[in-house]
Amino acid sequence: MQRRTLLVTGGAGFIGSNFVISTLVSAPGSQSCRIVNLDKLTYAGNPDSLAPVSADPRHVFVQGDIVDRPVVAALLRDFEVDAVVNFAAESHVDRSISSPRDFVQTNVVGTFELLEACRAHTARLPAERAGAFRFLHVSTDEVYGALGEAGYFTEESAHRPNSPYAASKAAADHLVRAYFKTYGLPTITTNCSNNYGPRQFPEKLIPLVLLNALEGKPLPIYGKGLNVRDWLYVDDHCDAIRLALERGRPGETYAIGGRNELTNVALVETLCDVLQEIAPPSGPRAGTRYRDLISFVPDRPGHDLRYAIDASKAERELGWRARHGFVDGLRKTASWYLENRTWCERIAAGVYGRERLGLLDPR
Ligand code: NAD
Repeated sequence: MQRRTLLVTGGAGFIGSNFVISTLVSAPGSQSCRIVNLDKLTYAGNPDSLAPVSADPRHVFVQGDIVDRPVVAALLRDFEVDAVVNFAAESHVDRSISSPRDFVQTNVVGTFELLEACRAHTARLPAERAGAFRFLHVSTDEVYGALGEAGYFTEESAHRPNSPYAASKAAADHLVRAYFKTYGLPTITTNCSNNYGPRQFPEKLIPLVLLNALEGKPLPIYGKGLNVRDWLYVDDHCDAIRLALERGRPGETYAIGGRNELTNVALVETLCDVLQEIAPPSGPRAGTRYRDLISFVPDRPGHDLRYAIDASKAERELGWRARHGFVDGLRKTASWYLENRTWCERIAAGVYGRERLGLLDPR
């Protein structure tokens, strides 16, 4: 990566923290990069996840809200920011079913305020720097709705969101597009599939199953477990974002997926097998099988059947390839959680006890 100051929003969350760490520590050109990390530290933001860069002078952490335009404007100006990478979001579909307002506020209003701040910032820059500025918006394949048993989402797929989360991300995608078309702000949008890897908050399927399994608790699968997701290892996603920043064309969108389609039940079984191999049950549970903990629970309302991405455009135009196969990525993920028990214990002591979220009120 060329010398750059990035404003990363939501960089204490799952993907954001992995992006900040890999961009500053291991990515090509990492030594010439500086990151200002703006995060509100909601329940999903975790300063512990930033431990590898906490003493690095090239990482400046600011606790704040993307909705707060004066704060964003001051950061853009004071740090002479060259690019914004917008991860900040309310990101959990189940929570969007019970509390949709927060999703509209951060995902829609927050993205709008960021865009406005960037529009004012680039208007003050010399033409060359304004043209080189990038606003990279990290979005999801959930904006496209559900697929049937065949076919793939591409950049041409229509937005047909089904959950309040997906609708709020879709609204943000439209604003980002409009700021390119109307004001010429150099925006790029990436729409990716389900990420997995280290530092993911345990309300999401993979860390939830992993931590429950290690404690001998039931492994909940929604409905019949036949919903299909296309799993993307988080480091592969972070590579794609860096490439999109360097090589992506303003005004374009890029669909990023791991070409790893699995039903939820197959995913949980595979995760159980990986754990059985690297951390077999011990003590009073020695000799038991993690697979026997699988338990089917009522489905999520409006649960999309299948997501799958054709990432040909990103592969062709950005030169990107997912480097991790699914079992390889799962092994790395499980090993990280096993080696970072303090991170897990501190999360467990916090606000979320891995209870079921997002069921409709029966009234
Ligand atoms: P996350 O929930 O783990 O992290 C979100 C981060 O944003 C947290 O650190 C939180 O404190 C911060 N945040 C929330 N509201 C904020 C606000 N108003 N101002 C500043 N910071 C705020 O999410 P994630 O899984 O890392 O997802 C990151 C982005 O990627 C999101 O935009 C999400 O929609 C998108 N995405 C995620 C996935 C996935 O599988 N995790 C898939 C597709 C797209």
